[in-house]
Amino acid sequence: MRRLTNILVTGGAGFIGSNFIRYLFEKEGFSGTVVNADCLTYAGKEENLADVEAQFGKTVVDSGATQRYFFEKADICNRDRMERIFRQYDIDTVIHFAAESHVDRSICGPEAFIRTNVMGTQTLLDTARFYWLRKDGVLRDDVLFHQISTDEVYGSLGIDGSFTEESPYEPRSPYAASKAAADHLVMAYHYTYGLPVTISHCSNNYGPCQFPEKFLPLVISNIRDGKELPVYGDGRNIRDWIYVDDHIRAVWLIVNKGKTGGRYNISGENEWRNIDLLHKVIELTAAECGLNPLDVEKTIRFVSDRPGHDRRYALDCSKLKDELGWKQTVNFEEGLRRTVSWYVGKDKYQSVFSFSIR
Ligand code: NAD
Repeated sequence: MRRLTNILVTGGAGFIGSNFIRYLFEKEGFSGTVVNADCLTYAGKEENLADVEAQFGKTVVDSGATQRYFFEKADICNRDRMERIFRQYDIDTVIHFAAESHVDRSICGPEAFIRTNVMGTQTLLDTARFYWLRKDGVLRDDVLFHQISTDEVYGSLGIDGSFTEESPYEPRSPYAASKAAADHLVMAYHYTYGLPVTISHCSNNYGPCQFPEKFLPLVISNIRDGKELPVYGDGRNIRDWIYVDDHIRAVWLIVNKGKTGGRYNISGENEWRNIDLLHKVIELTAAECGLNPLDVEKTIRFVSDRPGHDRRYALDCSKLKDELGWKQTVNFEEGLRRTVSWYVGKDKYQSVFSFSIR
């Protein structure tokens, strides 16, 4: 039986990690402790969890309550810091979100991706394996290391078909390769040392708190600010979209009930060509901002394609549905509306599209 009492969430100040921590406290009635270890790169913002900090962080001690949310500004590559965090909070579960996560940045500079996504994951795995070793030399079985992976490790698909958990890895960008390497290390620690692990592969997430260099927050903020709307290539690349809450509910289910050593695909089963999605976002954002959608359409700019741009991703998530009873709950139109109104209301989320891919 997994303890799931003192959870180390890495990268909890980023998009999905911050939504996950909020979800645990608000929706799951989680009664344990969450330690958020994040070194706050450009993508991490402590403000993403200001509400959780106010309700469960250090200030609650003044009113006699027990602090249950702890933020540690720490780099997952720093072994000493990781060991201290494990000891100080008696960590029994790791949910590993921390990563360099933007494909374009990985094309411009792969080193940071190898450092954090590969070396950082190995540092965490090794810290866990020593901290969780019992006196008799056997690893505890009430602990878990959950790796947040991506659909991109499987590579690109043609017009039909979808990847299952049995599909071979064929990463095509430095980002995807670094995530694939991390996944292999996670499974290697499971088979070699008996570390209890699970892995989830998810498709494209959307929702609040995503850094606006990624497609949806970028175009929403650009429409709001009257800027051009960049679209890679011919705009016909296909992605599957899932609302972030559906992803994190699946993660919590896997962490609670997933088979040790198991890998699970998580998908919105909701495929869109980028250009069609852009038209939909223009319609919703123009309405929210009181703009004429026809004027906004004129700001679309096709820019040269990303090198090695994967054409289509699609995941078969029937294992997660059949084995753990998960299903998507957020209707796409409703999720998009929520996302649009969140970004339109956030002036501080300035869009960023400053990469030139060489
Ligand atoms: P993000 O870029 O928004 O957040 C990443 C967080 O990790 C940031 O808070 C950053 O400060 C932190 N971080 C980076 N390097 C670190 C280091 N060395 N030490 C400590 N913290 C560090 O990313 P996201 O979109 O929230 O993605 C989270 C995870 O989900 C990643 O592992 C990513 O590969 C995976 N994923 C994302 C998507 C998606 O659509 N966004 C889809 C599938 C999988």
